[in-house]
Amino acid sequence: MDVAVIGGSLAGLQAALTLGRARRQVVVFDDGRARNRAAEHVHNYLGAEDPAPGELLAVGRRQLATYGVEVRDERVEDATADDDGFEIGGVRARAVVLATGLWDELPDVPGVADGWGRSVVACPHCHGWEVRDQPLVQLGMRGQPDRSVTRALLLSRWSDDVVLCTDGDEITEAQLDRLHRAKVTVRTERIQEVRGARVHLAGGDVLTPGRVFVVVRQHQQSELAETLGCQVEDGAVVTDDGGRTTVPGVYAVGTTTSPALLAIGAAGHASTAAVAVHNDLLELDLGGRW
Ligand SMILES: Cc1cc2nc3c(=O)[nH]c(=O)nc-3n(C[C@H](O)[C@H](O)[C@H](O)COP(=O)(O)OP(=O)(O)OC[C@H]3O[C@@H](n4cnc5c(N)ncnc54)[C@H](O)[C@@H]3O)c2cc1C
Repeated sequence: MDVAVIGGSLAGLQAALTLGRARRQVVVFDDGRARNRAAEHVHNYLGAEDPAPGELLAVGRRQLATYGVEVRDERVEDATADDDGFEIGGVRARAVVLATGLWDELPDVPGVADGWGRSVVACPHCHGWEVRDQPLVQLGMRGQPDRSVTRALLLSRWSDDVVLCTDGDEITEAQLDRLHRAKVTVRTERIQEVRGARVHLAGGDVLTPGRVFVVVRQHQQSELAETLGCQVEDGAVVTDDGGRTTVPGVYAVGTTTSPALLAIGAAGHASTAAVAVHNDLLELDLGGRW
């Protein structure tokens, strides 16, 4: 096998597509935890008219079959390297592509997890257009008032009626001034719970926005990068422009390397990296070294 791709969401499948079309032998492993799987639609993806996340991946898998790429619905628990390549999920491969993605830690507020992906979302670029001009709530992450303010300011471009709920955090006069200029209202009470898109504040007030936006903390879904010895900094696998990690033969693509990438950015990054993988393998084919 030329390449084992670990992670079969948008980045992993796109890497496999580019490599399959380059006539590389590729296997993809995926255990079904695409980051956006709770969402009803993927928005802001050129050429795809707001499909369900699973639908987009199913189309991708069908495309891959055309090029002989195998997709296994399996979790890779371990990865080892030796002089001849890698052992990944019982398969020998010359190169590895990590497309293992992220998971989102949500604010610790009752009910937020229940609405996640539907009435509760994080990214206005992904889910803002559908609720433009509606009343919106930006829920802060307690203990991170700076990020909460930044996100509320961002959200204010989608609606003139944004309420920032800090869940008990105080914010500075300078921040208040910026929020005021962006027409964002601030509530600093603790939040009791979020039920659907209803935000229950301590003291009894209930806000009823069209959607609740939250601040999240992102974490790597897999420790395989560390297992293989790759450098990881600030929660992202370190790579060069071609997705090459600090370990020869190991590549990382998509949000694994850059948490802020939207869906199409993750896929685009993976395609660029896959070209680098193909070129590096070509050098090996010609007797070169990693
Ligand atoms: C709720 C929500 C909604 C979103 N909506 C949008 C949107 O509308 N538009 C947009 O542009 N972006 C959206 N995003 C962002 C989008 O989800 C990401 O940009 C995209 O999923 C990144 O793709 P990825 O392939 O890098 O990683 P991921 O989607 O995180 O995929 C990683 C894959 O690797 C697999 N995996 C991990 N470890 C292993 C292992 N050890 N073995 C096997 N498989 C493994 C996982 O199962 C998963 O399938 C949304 C995000 C969230 C949280």
